[in-house]
Amino acid sequence: MPEAPRKIVHLDADAFFASVEQVLDPSLRGKAIAVGGLDRGIVCSASYEARRLGVRTPMPTALARRICPELIMIPGRHGLYGEFSRRMFEIIHDYTPEIEQCSIDEGYFDLSGRKEPIEEIAGAIRDRIRTTLQLPVSFGMGTNKLVTQIASKLHKPESFCVVPPGSEAMFLYPLSNRWLPGVGEKTGQALDLLGLFKVYHILQASTELLERAVGSYARELRQYAAGIDDRPVVSTIDEPKSYGQQRTFSNDLSDADEVELRLKQMLDQLMVKIRADGKFVKTVTIRVRYPGMEEAQGSESLHEASCVASDFYPLLKALLARVWVKPLPLRMAGVKLSNVCPPSCIEKKLPFFSEAPGSMESRIRLATAVDLLHQNMGDEAIRPARDLLRKKEKRED
Ligand SMILES: [Mg+2]
Repeated sequence: MPEAPRKIVHLDADAFFASVEQVLDPSLRGKAIAVGGLDRGIVCSASYEARRLGVRTPMPTALARRICPELIMIPGRHGLYGEFSRRMFEIIHDYTPEIEQCSIDEGYFDLSGRKEPIEEIAGAIRDRIRTTLQLPVSFGMGTNKLVTQIASKLHKPESFCVVPPGSEAMFLYPLSNRWLPGVGEKTGQALDLLGLFKVYHILQASTELLERAVGSYARELRQYAAGIDDRPVVSTIDEPKSYGQQRTFSNDLSDADEVELRLKQMLDQLMVKIRADGKFVKTVTIRVRYPGMEEAQGSESLHEASCVASDFYPLLKALLARVWVKPLPLRMAGVKLSNVCPPSCIEKKLPFFSEAPGSMESRIRLATAVDLLHQNMGDEAIRPARDLLRKKEKRED
């Protein structure tokens, strides 16, 4: 039986740095902006509005300003772009661990292990990147790296281009030789001189002719021209850190309050670890399993990351209602906390750490004090009132 075609996706954010700036400052949307050196530097990233007016990357800023006098130049904030990149790849990681990140805003991922059509999964990823990060991203989908990379770049911005299995050669056929791997400006000119302007010229050329332009690379180049590329997607990303716990109940539970309570207890325990690691988290995911093993899950995120369990409590009830829709009891429930970030992500957003009651600082101090008590005097030293109420109820019935 022939091997099933691979399902490879190439993702490339559009005008990444400029798009992040437009996300963070909506007054920049729809405007010609560029990120780079303000005066003597170069343009690193230009919005599509700026590109339409002739701004290119890399281009000296002075030249860009002459071509486009209304250009708004913004100095780069690389830590911030790194954070957006991390979150973008973390979204992909929910669908496959096989991700090869090539640059801050570009990478391949392999969905061959998934049953769903490639467009369906890539579409779901695109929608999540759009709604959570508001970033425009281009996707190329197909059976190998070569065609997917070209497909994502050919119709930018917001390309969503599938090259169906078997049509790789046809897809490449009319393109310029510059699209093929290993063909830069110099090699491109050498091919042009021999009349090999297009991919189909290369495909039809004799090996001797091709060797005159590219030497020993001729054979490989012809393979690429035929749309053949076996290069694997090599994972470069470790599992993004997340904290999770799940419980299989000794008896299936049908009382929503009881399930919510269990989720809160798991959340509490996870938060102790998160505080011990000095981390903050933003997203909570709950997963439930029915007796027939069928599962459902859903996520919600806080506006600001936190390391205090009670900040997540208000999200649990609504999430549970959204996820537990079947009129069946639950066999298992689990909580995962993701979107982990260091304290610096909080400090940057809050103007200062306030000691006022109810402030993030005071809530963290309270939670840490409780952690210490538990550590030194055991779990019973101090308990949430809800647990005591529950014990009392139990005793009564
Ligand atoms: Mg890009």
